[in-house]
Amino acid sequence: MKIAEVRTHVLDHRLERAFESASGRFSRRQHVLVEVVCDDGTTGWGECLGPVLPNAAIVKAYAGWLTGANPLETEKIWLTLYNALRDQGQRGLTVTALSGIDIALWDIKGKHFGVPVSVLLGGRFRDSVRAYATGSFRKDGVDRVTDIAGEVAGYRREGFHAVKVKIGFDVEEDLRVLEAVREAIGPDMRLMIDANHGYDTLEAIELGNRAAQLGIDWFEEPVVPEHLAAYRELRARQPIPVAGGETWHTRWGMREPVETRCVDILQPDICGTGGFTEMRRIADLASLHGIRLVPHVWGTAVQIAASLQFMAALPPNPPRPEPLEPILEFDRTDNPFRQAVVTTPIEHDGGVVAIPGGPGLGIEIDRDALVRFSLKDDCVQVR
Ligand code: CA
Repeated sequence: MKIAEVRTHVLDHRLERAFESASGRFSRRQHVLVEVVCDDGTTGWGECLGPVLPNAAIVKAYAGWLTGANPLETEKIWLTLYNALRDQGQRGLTVTALSGIDIALWDIKGKHFGVPVSVLLGGRFRDSVRAYATGSFRKDGVDRVTDIAGEVAGYRREGFHAVKVKIGFDVEEDLRVLEAVREAIGPDMRLMIDANHGYDTLEAIELGNRAAQLGIDWFEEPVVPEHLAAYRELRARQPIPVAGGETWHTRWGMREPVETRCVDILQPDICGTGGFTEMRRIADLASLHGIRLVPHVWGTAVQIAASLQFMAALPPNPPRPEPLEPILEFDRTDNPFRQAVVTTPIEHDGGVVAIPGGPGLGIEIDRDALVRFSLKDDCVQVR
């Protein structure tokens, strides 16, 4: 069995209404899928987090090392690709592109052996996970406070046990949003906040101290990810548990944040941090240091399926009769191709998502959707 070809599928949809986080504006939805084709006809699928055209270009650059290789040798291929661009890479696009390829290779491996990736990773500790709703972005042309309060009330009605709200724009306005959100969801639903690194250190400390009384599970990306000392300061100077890690890549990128306890909750992204091969190491690293792991998820059903396979194999922690279970980040923002790319959408039922049990990622790609949503005009996301 050899790799015959590596393809990329760049997907694009112009939104009727743009939305924004503190770090970026979304006027279009764009994601890139990776397809690895083997000489026996087996095909594996992956996805890369981040800007589509640079990711696609680097995936194509890696193809020269991939064709002719045995796709089952995932560790050897990961190291070959990492070493190929190591001197100019180590994090960022060289790793996000590698992540999409690695996920596709594990999909192939699962299909080859006729088992889900979660079984290859050591076994399924669970067949479903609770999801939390990610949304509550700032939208054009509406009052942010009433808009978001209405949105989160909808998640409660759908059965979600938790919701994550976007802040990081302005401390006073963000606090007004959070007060309205707590009022709308009631006292029992869990609430997380994500600043998308929109604050400086003092603003984040102030927001954390004033928002804590609203009952908040975690404070995600309070400041830019390079400021590790500020993360540590945040943990000391405000009471909400600190989360982060979606832009820290590979075991090396995770080492200092974990070893110096920058976060209470680590959020690696399987499509960004190095695929299944590297996520296993990062989960071990977090476990070694007693840090909770909640994967970051922002993509199509391919990314959701990969994240679910990984989460199925996460050991119960701590070991007790009813352990803490991993929770799935479930993006509720507008994206018509998120589920259209697969023949069976991965949806929630009362806030619970079943983990596919078929071979590989457990999904089948709808090729018509890939054509329908393919990028037509090389227009890159305008921020
Ligand atoms: Ca985030």
